[in-house]
Amino acid sequence: MQSLKDMGLETSTETREDFVNFKINPSVVVYPRNEKEVVKVVRYAYENRIPIVPWGAGTSLTGAVSCEGCILLDMKHMSNILEINDVDWYVRTQPGVNLEFLNKKLMEKGFFLPPDPASFFLCSVGGAVANSSGGMRGVKYGTFRDWVLSLRVVLPTGEVVQVGEPFRKNRAGYDLVHLFTGSEGTLGVITEIWFRIIPLPKEKMIPIVSFMPDLDSTAGVIQEMRKSGILPEIAEYIDSEVIMALNTQLNAELRESKGGLLMLRVEEHDLEKIKEILGKWHGDVSILNDEEWERLYSLRAQSAIALKAMAKEMYVEDIVVPVSRLMEAVKRLKELERKYQVKMPVIAHIGDGNLHPNILLKDKEIADELFHEVGMIAVELGGSVSGEHGIGVQKAKLMGIQVKRHGGMKVLEIMKGIKDLVDPRGIMNPGKYVELAYNIMKQERNE
Ligand SMILES: Cc1cc2nc3c(=O)[nH]c(=O)nc-3n(C[C@H](O)[C@H](O)[C@H](O)COP(=O)(O)OP(=O)(O)OC[C@H]3O[C@@H](n4cnc5c(N)ncnc54)[C@H](O)[C@@H]3O)c2cc1C
Repeated sequence: MQSLKDMGLETSTETREDFVNFKINPSVVVYPRNEKEVVKVVRYAYENRIPIVPWGAGTSLTGAVSCEGCILLDMKHMSNILEINDVDWYVRTQPGVNLEFLNKKLMEKGFFLPPDPASFFLCSVGGAVANSSGGMRGVKYGTFRDWVLSLRVVLPTGEVVQVGEPFRKNRAGYDLVHLFTGSEGTLGVITEIWFRIIPLPKEKMIPIVSFMPDLDSTAGVIQEMRKSGILPEIAEYIDSEVIMALNTQLNAELRESKGGLLMLRVEEHDLEKIKEILGKWHGDVSILNDEEWERLYSLRAQSAIALKAMAKEMYVEDIVVPVSRLMEAVKRLKELERKYQVKMPVIAHIGDGNLHPNILLKDKEIADELFHEVGMIAVELGGSVSGEHGIGVQKAKLMGIQVKRHGGMKVLEIMKGIKDLVDPRGIMNPGKYVELAYNIMKQERNE
């Protein structure tokens, strides 16, 4: 791989691990400083048919950045905010910018970019777009998919395109912005992003914490809030095991109880109704001051890190079900816990039906089986095997089953056709996501 260095590119040969211990053994890591350098690397990979894997901050939970012998393209040097436009309400940025840093800069100007994956203090915005990440404000503001206006992308052939326009209303052609958003580095390298931004909310928001008896009753609260037309900005849940992990690993000093903790941030005029709903489901109500809320929000963001510190390895599930079916999902999770004689600590963006049961690994074979069964709960309840973390290699089979059952094999064929069209030599993050899901389903059909 000498010649990449000879082209004046910064390179190294380090090996890495992602957050969930998928192996990353690149033959070389390249650190491009600008789009031209990205083009150079991609052309080189294209001509020599070498797999290439983009790397944002490596916080993927699904093996989406794993590789063997690839060129790993670390985007950390492309970390400039290029323009904040306070009339057209967008920010134009390079992909390596850290999400928390971007939001600090936007807030200084009275704006923000709402999606806030709990890894906001670690992750890059390019990774968040490629993953279509969600987060704690997702219940009100959706995922990254809802906030990308336009993208510059270096295609796997080395050609550069800009998809979309930096404004909201645009009917010119197929929606390629949404195709590249969430493409997990399999269709090209994102080199510039135009995000929609909005002014910081002006209404007073009330932060509440409620200790709930269990996940069932929390699901009951969320369903009843929706029936009452209440849309919280944040509705997050962590169970007693996660609270314990935060206390033992991060000295959180949270009250321990048999149940779990529900965090809500709501509009002031909804407060009385929410108190009534929480009371009905046996939740207590404490209104927090800003400092207390910030501390709890930060602890919630570190929940997965605290759990991971307790287990050598863990699988993070990311199932999402329609809110109307949350109770059934919770019941079926409990049945699996009984069947496998394990406790799956739950972190949940409960407000939008997105549950993260965590499987702390003891026996890998059993964990794999359990992982599959949890995913099937989502498929069978009309939900999705991934709300926000994406597919990578870990959920490819489950994704194949979901798409085939809910949409039909033709939908998978269309997806694979797009991959083949955009990446004719199959070099961009190969062997994952759509390609892998399609291959598994095709193989099963032929058996
Ligand atoms: C503690 C913790 C909490 C988390 N909480 C959440 C959460 O609440 N919600 C959520 O959605 N996710 C969460 N995640 C998952 C993950 O952090 C996010 O999805 C994050 O946005 C990924 O960003 P990254 O920069 O680390 O991307 P990476 O992990 O580096 O990459 C992710 C994917 O994007 C591709 N990619 C990266 N950069 C580019 C680029 N420039 N062009 C093309 N493709 C690219 C990679 O190849 C890979 O397929 C969490 C992870 C951790 C460790």
